[in-house]
Amino acid sequence: MRLPLRYYGDPVLKRRATPVEAVDERLRRLAKDMIETMHAEEGIGLAAQQVGETVALCVVDVPPASDAEADGRPLNPGLEMPMVMFNPRIVRASATTEPREEGCLSFPEIRAKITRPVEVTVRWLDLDGRQREATLRGLTARCVQHELDHLDGILISDRMSPVARVALAGRLKRLRRHTEEALRRAASGAGRAGGPVRSRQYDLWGAGRRP
Ligand SMILES: [Zn+2]
Repeated sequence: MRLPLRYYGDPVLKRRATPVEAVDERLRRLAKDMIETMHAEEGIGLAAQQVGETVALCVVDVPPASDAEADGRPLNPGLEMPMVMFNPRIVRASATTEPREEGCLSFPEIRAKITRPVEVTVRWLDLDGRQREATLRGLTARCVQHELDHLDGILISDRMSPVARVALAGRLKRLRRHTEEALRRAASGAGRAGGPVRSRQYDLWGAGRRP
């Protein structure tokens, strides 16, 4: 099931994730829905907060063509995609860093250069609750770091340079205002219906804004 995305300005994006104690059926279902949502939104990664959840879970699916050296050799041989990562944490990061442009499904049409370590070793629990560890390179390393940031409530707006933040200030402000208005409308609608806060407006707005 495709889940509605949460956008910049939604307080859930600033909440830190709670570690998962055991990978149960509900969490497997959520991971599956997050993969479906990520694919539908044409993203390469998605964190739980982006669908309004606060469990330590992210999914990543970097296409093989983007996970390769210039000569086509895979950068992360043997790594299976999509990756489902519960309780992911970085156990080692390279001293070498690199700036590269990033986007985020929670920031439609906004891109910013973010500096990150080029290589990270990550430990996580997979869909079967098994402990995994891998040293990641290239776009996959970057994507996983971006998703781990989400799980800590850290967004690209927190990571971008002060110059970029100034340059994007108007767009960020508009996005935040739009999200807050949508949340208010959803809350008043849900209040009458007595249901949870759903964000149908998000979908319409998200779809309308996407090229
Ligand atoms: Zn993101």
